[in-house]
Amino acid sequence: MKKTALYYSTIFLEHLVPEGHPENNNRIKFIIKKIQESNFKNLKFKKAKPANHDILKLGHTESYINWLTQLKPEKEIIKIDQDTFMSPKTLEAAKIGVGCLIDAIDSVLEKRYENAFCLIRPPGHHAEREKAMGFCFFSTIGIGVKYLKKIKKISKIAVVDFDVHHGNGTQNILWDDPECLFISIHQDKIFPFTGSKNETGIKNNILNIPVSSSSNSTEFRNFVDNIILPRLIKFEPEFLLISAGFDGHKDDQLSQTQWEESDFIYITKKLKSIANQFCKDRIVSCLEGGYHLEKLSTCCVSHLKTLME
Ligand SMILES: [Zn+2]
Repeated sequence: MKKTALYYSTIFLEHLVPEGHPENNNRIKFIIKKIQESNFKNLKFKKAKPANHDILKLGHTESYINWLTQLKPEKEIIKIDQDTFMSPKTLEAAKIGVGCLIDAIDSVLEKRYENAFCLIRPPGHHAEREKAMGFCFFSTIGIGVKYLKKIKKISKIAVVDFDVHHGNGTQNILWDDPECLFISIHQDKIFPFTGSKNETGIKNNILNIPVSSSSNSTEFRNFVDNIILPRLIKFEPEFLLISAGFDGHKDDQLSQTQWEESDFIYITKKLKSIANQFCKDRIVSCLEGGYHLEKLSTCCVSHLKTLME
């Protein structure tokens, strides 16, 4: 087993949503319980500071960050849009989530850990440059790419997003950045209703793979082997980021796809081999969606275990 850093903070439990909302703190509680039961020896729990204003500005406009900052709910949960809610600790949780990814990137670049997983919420891949949406406030992964590029001077960064929903926010932030490759595999015609094949970025730097509601293991693995991997090999990334959502699982209530736990292990293994070939093994993965508490926790822990192998 290789050494993997697991970034986590109890603040993620304090981002509160209305009763019945699928993106609630039980998600993290279930995953932590499963990790503790697994008794991993090569897993190091790490904490991080909140991302500062300059880091957030890598992915968002000043006016958007200022708007979020002045909302400041004191006791109540306020509605940002149909699905997105802010409680008193939400903004701090979201900033610490971004801070976790930044610290994870540093740890991996400095070879303190081979790779890292950020067990964070609220998720990030729907947040656009100037818009909170789909449970998300900051584009964690989008900011991570810009940090690698602008601050760490790593030029070629690839992001693979296997959450069942299109990573519209990451796409929005990376659209005009031809040195970054964003790949998203997601169910077609569900939220956020973007991610068609013809959305390809400024210079063919976006690859969207919309799948039908009946997509199963065989199809998922075919897309991994015949589309995702060849594109990554052609791109030759120096650093790999993963938006790891487990809501494509066949039992998840937010999608119809029939993906299985073994498919998430499959893609993780393949991405590790790409990282080994091109990125000096450098991978940082970040939790996005996954709403069936039991399946989310087993899939997430299998993903983590695969990162450690
Ligand atoms: Zn999702």
